[in-house]
Amino acid sequence: MNAETEIRRHFASDNYAGICPEAWDALAEANRDHAVSYGDDPWTARAADLIRDLFETACEVFFVFNGTAANSLALASTGQSYHSVLCHELAHVETDECGAPEFFSNGMKVLQVPGVNGKLDPAGIERLVRKRTDIHYPKPRAVSITQATEVGTVYSVEEIKAIWAKTKQFRLALHMDGARFANAVASLNAKPKEITWQAGVDVLCFGGTKNGTNVGDAVVFFNRELAAEFDYRCKQSGQLCSKMRFLAAPWVGMLKDGAWLRHAGQANAMARRLHDALAGLPEVKILFPTQANAVFADLPPHVIHALRQKGWKFYTFIGAGGCRLMCAWDTREEDVDRFVSDLKHLLVHAPREIPSGPVDHRKL
Ligand SMILES: *Cc1c(COP(=O)(O)O)cnc(C)c1O
Repeated sequence: MNAETEIRRHFASDNYAGICPEAWDALAEANRDHAVSYGDDPWTARAADLIRDLFETACEVFFVFNGTAANSLALASTGQSYHSVLCHELAHVETDECGAPEFFSNGMKVLQVPGVNGKLDPAGIERLVRKRTDIHYPKPRAVSITQATEVGTVYSVEEIKAIWAKTKQFRLALHMDGARFANAVASLNAKPKEITWQAGVDVLCFGGTKNGTNVGDAVVFFNRELAAEFDYRCKQSGQLCSKMRFLAAPWVGMLKDGAWLRHAGQANAMARRLHDALAGLPEVKILFPTQANAVFADLPPHVIHALRQKGWKFYTFIGAGGCRLMCAWDTREEDVDRFVSDLKHLLVHAPREIPSGPVDHRKL
């Protein structure tokens, strides 16, 4: 057996993980009989109701195929083609969606704002809004924040509220990319409402895939006016699933008994374990506070190379460089310990020379 096939759970991405049992069982249930198509089925109604229960408010809920679609369509719903959206310079909407927010909004411009630890801050927002106010510049209309962020940090309730104060001041909508919303809730030990509508969030893209579903993210409008005709937006962009129950049922499985939060808590705990093992190792530098399910670490290049030679997969192109080690709902202590043990060994024994030739880190 070679190293590649031996390692079963990697740290490359939380979407390397499969479907969790709760989502799988709900899919099987939904598959037993016929059901009405295009979302007029009991599973979709139940999933939307469970999301309303979770947020303790009468929000509007739509299910789309992935996070890129959810973010792009949600942002498009906040304004017109001549508007702009402010986001952190490392935000997924800017760096990893191939221009989809601009495309699906017919031209809204995504403007990047720097900020410490992957987060926007009120001053950064104000600076960009005030930078230009003339007719020749796209008019700021929305702010997008990612919770948990692309570098594994989490906005506190106070931080979101401080951003809300700015969005109110400048009449901007507040969008939250919650691809890892569950990890943020587990990390903060807060109620979902406390970090969304009670902190000024107008629309949340609630990620299911990385939390353990097969496919599909929920677009949750707390500001229900923004949801007007959103169903048409979904249909036009190819995001209206005809067998909608298979996007919705996993949410029922995840939400009905709290599996979503348990799985996120497990992923966070494994990241914490990995962080604690890595911190203090010679030649290893932790790059960001570990607050959700990711650890970012600087490792010597020859050790990165040797880890990959051993079969470990992880990204080095996300965020501000370094290695991104991502834990998933099914990451176990033994996976973390095995990685740490290999790393410790290679820090001492890996050959210092790396064979020359181009390395394509995207080919994982
Ligand atoms: C994974 C992810 C998404 C969604 O990506 P898709 O591949 O389109 O599902 C959105 N935002 C962030 C921060 C992500 O990590």
